[in-house]
Amino acid sequence: MRRNAPSPADPTAPERTSSVGPERTMRDADALHEAGLLAENDVAAAKQVARRYAIAVTPHLVEGALGSSAIARQFVPSADELVIAREELGDPIGDEAHAPVKGIVHRYRDRVLLKPIHACAVYCRFCFRREQVGPGGDALDAAELEAALDYIRSHGEIWEVILSGGDPLLLSPRRLRGIIEALAGIDHVGVIRIHTRLPAADPAKIDGEMVAALKSAKAVYVVLHCNHADELTAEVKAACARLIDAGLPMLAQSVLLKGVNDDAAAMEALMRGLVAARIKPYYLHHPDLAHGTGHFRLPIERGQEILRNLRGRVSGLCQPTYVLDIPGGHGKVPIGPDYLGQTAEGRWRVADPEGNQHDYPPKMTDDSTS
Ligand SMILES: *Cc1c(COP(=O)(O)O)cnc(C)c1O
Ligand code: SF4
Repeated sequence: MRRNAPSPADPTAPERTSSVGPERTMRDADALHEAGLLAENDVAAAKQVARRYAIAVTPHLVEGALGSSAIARQFVPSADELVIAREELGDPIGDEAHAPVKGIVHRYRDRVLLKPIHACAVYCRFCFRREQVGPGGDALDAAELEAALDYIRSHGEIWEVILSGGDPLLLSPRRLRGIIEALAGIDHVGVIRIHTRLPAADPAKIDGEMVAALKSAKAVYVVLHCNHADELTAEVKAACARLIDAGLPMLAQSVLLKGVNDDAAAMEALMRGLVAARIKPYYLHHPDLAHGTGHFRLPIERGQEILRNLRGRVSGLCQPTYVLDIPGGHGKVPIGPDYLGQTAEGRWRVADPEGNQHDYPPKMTDDSTS
């Protein structure tokens, strides 16, 4: 389907009003230069980057990037990606340590990742799987997909299946429906979760056919990867509304990124924007130690400060859990600010959102006189 043609299956798909936007996804430095997203001087380095890591910027995000440096920084390649720090890893979150069959990552007892496809609509410059994803990245063929589903069928402890990748929503609605139906047909699978960037990268793709393919008798959650309020355009919000209105609850995961969302105001706008669009912020990831992503990383203390700032200023609905995926495949853990401490006598001390300390339980006056 051409991006600009509203699907006949979805009469509510937004008409494109702009006639200046590009028609096709940009996949190289020259195209980005012509679009005005890459300076002449930066083209050579971007071509060098392209030899290692895939580039793709959808028409929707080319338009977005032209008006927002926070969007441009996420998708336009830069010479900084050629700088590899010593601590950076090819498999930063240790997927390979927990891959019993191709396409499955089984790190936690009750849930698995199922990665049916390794391509994405856009390639994030900070991607944690950047060595694995790309347009040529191999998708599971029919036999491999069946073997992955058999693994899930034969492990009764698996309660949740998380479709990840790559971007699973790049699969055709027909193939997605096949996977959702197969998973929903497994008795012990109670929840299906889909991690995707597509609603923000190419919102028109979330059409009636796609929505119908994802609906199931089992719970299907859609987790949007979104890092800045500028990504939440009217078209993106409408795409998410189509999913939510169809009964698919939405969550969001974001990555804390230097130069994109590393200040309190940007984070607040993002979280408010998501919640107002009926999307519950789930995780805020500390950036992973992927090769050539040092320019996006910042100290954990800075992340904690941003989170501390959010608490008290915005509603509990707007609070994501700040997490670190421990290198080596040891799992994700919360690394947000600590509010709770203990005194030498073993009394709890708890900080309020302004940073003032309080005893818990409160000190009674007769405590001090006895
Ligand atoms: C992130 C991840 C999950 C999901 O973890 P939640 O904390 O449930 O969101 C599951 N398996 C693997 C391998 C993961 O990396
Ligand atoms: S959408 Fe996800 S998997 Fe794809 S490039 Fe971005 S971070 Fe990586």
